[in-house]
Amino acid sequence: MEAAGADRIHWDVMDGCFVPNLTFGPDVIASTRPHTSLPFEAHLMVTAPNTMLGRWVEAGCATVTVHAEACVHLHRTLGAIGEFGAKAGVALNPATDPADVAHVLDLVAVVLVMTVNPGFGGQRYLATMEAKIAAIRELIVRSGHDVEIEVDGGISADTVAQARRAGADAFVSGSALYRHPGGPEAAICELRKLGDASRSIT
Ligand code: ZN
Repeated sequence: MEAAGADRIHWDVMDGCFVPNLTFGPDVIASTRPHTSLPFEAHLMVTAPNTMLGRWVEAGCATVTVHAEACVHLHRTLGAIGEFGAKAGVALNPATDPADVAHVLDLVAVVLVMTVNPGFGGQRYLATMEAKIAAIRELIVRSGHDVEIEVDGGISADTVAQARRAGADAFVSGSALYRHPGGPEAAICELRKLGDASRSIT
């Protein structure tokens, strides 16, 4: 992915509880850390993110993103990620109100808008999330903080431009990169062209 031109590596961590699927833990992430200089981000789709926040940072993740729905004390959790020396991110499931992030924008580097329901790759992009992206963009502008909006789920050549128009800055793509007939390099090149060359592909 580095050779193909990706800006960073996004790890979808799933615990089989918050989402009905299992992926990897910090040891797997750490084992790949020497093989690329791209920044890593851990997207924790887990029910109890607080129990091992520091492990993702030790594994080499520059950003740790937790779900607002999984955190009873979201403000505290995001602050704790910062104390571990990582950038904090907050993710929202499709049904979650954008207002849920209004009072934590001073603590995060990224708001991740799920454009599918989390749990599986290869799902269809939910265009109805674009109003939410736009609403979060407004909240960020009003807050005066420098926060990136990242979209995750169903991002491909067919959807990247509309997500960009709605206000997204960074685009997480999995299936569209691995399944592109021209390979990941052609896929990233295409996404960059359609989504605005200056934006991040992760
Ligand atoms: Zn993700």
